[in-house]
Amino acid sequence: MNNKNEFAGIDYFRLPAALLVIAIHTSPLAVISETGDFILTRVAARTAVPFFFMTSGFFLISRYTKDYTKLAAFIKKILLIYGAAVLLYIPVNIYNGYFLQKNLLPNLIKDLVSDGTLYHLWYLPASVTGAAFAWYLVKKCGYFTAFIVTVLLYLTGLFGDSYYGIAARLPAIKGFYGLLFQVSDYTRNGIFFAPVFFVLGGFLADSGYRHTLKKSMSGFAASFMLMLMEALTLHHFRMQRHDSMYLFLLPCMYFLFQVLLHFRGKRLKRLGMISLVIYIIHPMMIIVVRMIAGLLHVKSLLVDNSLLHYVVVCLLSVWFSLVANLLWEKYSPKKKKHNKNTERTWIEINLENLEHNAEVLKAAMPADCELMAVVKAHAYGHGDFETAVCLEKTGVRAFAVATINEGIRLRKYGIRGEILVLGYTDVCRAGELKKYGLIQTLVDFSYASALNEQGVTVWAHIKIDTGMHRLGMPWEKPSDVKLVFAMKNIRVLGIYTHLCCSDSREPEDVSFTEIQLKRFFGLTDALGKTFLKDVKLHVQSSYGILNYPEIHCHYVRAGIALYGVSSLPDHKTKLSLDLRPVLSLKSRVVLVRDVKKGESVGYGRKFKAERDSRIAILPAGYADGVPGSLSGPNGSVLIGGKQVPVIGRICMDQLAVDITDTEAEVGDEAVLVCAGNNNILSASSVAENSGSISNELLSRLGERLPVVVK
Ligand SMILES: *Cc1c(COP(=O)(O)O)cnc(C)c1O
Repeated sequence: MNNKNEFAGIDYFRLPAALLVIAIHTSPLAVISETGDFILTRVAARTAVPFFFMTSGFFLISRYTKDYTKLAAFIKKILLIYGAAVLLYIPVNIYNGYFLQKNLLPNLIKDLVSDGTLYHLWYLPASVTGAAFAWYLVKKCGYFTAFIVTVLLYLTGLFGDSYYGIAARLPAIKGFYGLLFQVSDYTRNGIFFAPVFFVLGGFLADSGYRHTLKKSMSGFAASFMLMLMEALTLHHFRMQRHDSMYLFLLPCMYFLFQVLLHFRGKRLKRLGMISLVIYIIHPMMIIVVRMIAGLLHVKSLLVDNSLLHYVVVCLLSVWFSLVANLLWEKYSPKKKKHNKNTERTWIEINLENLEHNAEVLKAAMPADCELMAVVKAHAYGHGDFETAVCLEKTGVRAFAVATINEGIRLRKYGIRGEILVLGYTDVCRAGELKKYGLIQTLVDFSYASALNEQGVTVWAHIKIDTGMHRLGMPWEKPSDVKLVFAMKNIRVLGIYTHLCCSDSREPEDVSFTEIQLKRFFGLTDALGKTFLKDVKLHVQSSYGILNYPEIHCHYVRAGIALYGVSSLPDHKTKLSLDLRPVLSLKSRVVLVRDVKKGESVGYGRKFKAERDSRIAILPAGYADGVPGSLSGPNGSVLIGGKQVPVIGRICMDQLAVDITDTEAEVGDEAVLVCAGNNNILSASSVAENSGSISNELLSRLGERLPVVVK
């Protein structure tokens, strides 16, 4: 992402938020006006902690997740910080007599899990529970349900907090809260308070939904005023048991965050750590100020004057945090910046180009025809997660995969659109097809009957064989197709066929394609309107749309075109669209060595140096998907913009290139497939050199290659 475009507003607000938390614990305006202090510390400052939760949610919670590594890393980090903070405050706890209390063990457990072992530390366990809970909820049930559940929890919390006065009047409800308060002193914790803000943060990140600045500001001003009135009323009627939670805090935080999202620029990540240290250390600084004031006999000035007290505590906390951060940066064990994903060989994808291609293809299709993105085989090697999520976010609603397992993976990532399984699935997995809401291709009549007998209702598209003779029911038998429609457990949602030579402009191939089309539409005509009601028809894949754009169907199943490459170089098509390549395959020079004239390199001694040579070893082999047929003179790579030849046989995990005529060094990047504009090492030209087409080259890229989004 462009530096200037990042969410700097969120970073910068961390500092005032941390100072607001200090205000809660020092009541700065107490000397001036009690109401003023209430408004500052019990109302305005109550936005600080929800802001921190939302920020974590914004970067952590998403409907789309590949796995839980990010969540695990977050929890680990917070637990480490919590551990350190607990240790830091042990002396204070000793001084307070904390360890002398009755029932120490149960209380200690309760404090560690929910209340914090010193008052402000509750925030850390609440972050852990809140994040984990919100994460699973959003993942399993989606935002709508997650909002309902977390808002209900928040409302439950509300009646144990600001609205307790009402709950306390109803004995049964009072009893419920009585039980609750035995486990947690307050309801502003990781179950009732934090989750809704994590969910809200994740929602704002995922949906990308933004109000205008003006609307956000007015929304914030209005909801803040409402919250203020709410708080003053509750305060006036002495309803509050505690004062962290208000009804209008929810819209207030929503609009505040919307306002902050408008301020873009370079992120200042350091402010995250600085504000966290301020947050953790300020109670210590309150004690320090009191001690110093006592020693210097200036208590009336530094402690009794709450405003001055606040300012001094803030200054000390900020100073401590800055110094601690500087010292940490200077003396912490320096790990070299290292990107594990690009240490060996990797796939680099340009999602802007992917979005662009999807738009271009949609524009080439009839208005009521939809793009069905073919993301089988890890999205032709581009990374199924990255590709499908990007496409769904840009509005693609239909996907196609080759196997049921690929479909299930997409569902687990959070993809909601239709997913058509193009290939055969064992009928005994009918239950899974239903569970994951996948659409199965009926590969022939007996398959459809067997699937029907499983007793589970399955969504299906009927495939028609119009001449490819691979999968499908014969085009000559509309009566069989009608029988499938009558099957009890099969819900036919579509009918399709596949064209076997739509990539060719040769007259013979064109006439065969026309025959296929005639057969397909002949069959659909024979079925008639009643059968075709609500049934989607599709015949074109990438070359289908490029060579036969006039066909009018419900879907185009585009694979290779979506990835912006042609199957072969200079493939002439009827439409020439501005499609841009998405994928580059890159590797790194890990070793440079000199080879004397006459020495050989690699298996079978296929390369013999004709001069004293310098060779580079790249950690990329046929197990990574580099075709072995690129061995010797067929293959080349780009290093520092210069094309150098592959020498000897490509091994399973390595290959060698001749760099005698270059300045290449260890650590240099090498490009094996290039997504650049000129055709050098384009997927189709590399594929052609290897004796294949780009579809095969890309889909065989090895699973051990990390996908890096550019
Ligand atoms: C793979 C596949 C496609 C996509 O083909 P491209 O030529 O990559 O667009 C479409 N339909 C079916 C049935 C497929 O198997």
